Amino acid sequence: MDADVAALAQEIARARRIVLFTGAGISTESGIPDFRGPGGVWTTMRPIGFADFVASEAARREAWRRKFDSEPVMRAARPNRGHRACARLLREGKAACVITQNIDGLHQQAGVEAGQVIELHGNATYAHCLDCGTRHELDDLRAAFERDGAAPRCGRCRGLVKTATISFGQAMPEAAMRRAEAEARAADCCIVLGSSLVVYPAAGVPVLARQAGARLVIVNREATGLDDMADLVVHREIGAVFGAAVGVN
Ligand code: NAD
Ligand code: ZN
Repeated sequence: MDADVAALAQEIARARRIVLFTGAGISTESGIPDFRGPGGVWTTMRPIGFADFVASEAARREAWRRKFDSEPVMRAARPNRGHRACARLLREGKAACVITQNIDGLHQQAGVEAGQVIELHGNATYAHCLDCGTRHELDDLRAAFERDGAAPRCGRCRGLVKTATISFGQAMPEAAMRRAEAEARAADCCIVLGSSLVVYPAAGVPVLARQAGARLVIVNREATGLDDMADLVVHREIGAVFGAAVGVN
């Protein structure tokens, strides 16, 4: 066993209540690009903020065009070794929950119960009306988009329809954030997997765990915003090193 794997395995062995905190980096090995890593989505495209989405039909059309362009990749993605390792720690009761910034639903696909996944940035596998909250399925919206060339509107109230994700400038889901904070305070170990830890308030969750006395462990292929604060930092690929530490293939 190499030194990084051994150090990670030791952190897991000594912990009694782990909180897993995941970012886009855990899903790159499933073929979904991250945002800020090399080759990340934002090295080529500017994000569309919430204010622009609400204010401009052109921005909405562009957001939906990007969504439908990227959807086949998201739909084809399957959980990888990193997701399986998380699922195992949860199943064994070693970890209490996974708090994720991801919107891809891959933790659930790896067998983690929906109640054990706290999604801080929502979910991109469906959409909802910003006014009345009605859920809308992507297949229906795509058909209408291709037919009308206009950004989708709610069939019930004519409100704006948006993927069920949190954009820049949009309020965080309060209940999820409160749950995440409570879990962070209750944990004795917080393991961060694949997050640059620069997006707040999400990145405040591992900070809170550390301040409340948990050990902070970071696995990321490059430096993150919280490396200085961590008890263990491993700059390696998640699947190989975390998978080996947990003992999944
Ligand atoms: P980020 O793109 O800012 O950071 C990802 C980090 O993971 C980078 O530092 C990168 O070096 C690292 N990384 C990538 N692949 C790795 C691997 N195989 N092993 C180890 N490290 C790896 O992502 P973030 O911190 O999650 O913040 C980005 C925002 O983007 C979030 O708000 C999230 O909602 C959204 N996002 C989600 C997805 C998804 O759902 N899969 C994908 C892209 C972006
Ligand atoms: Zn509506």
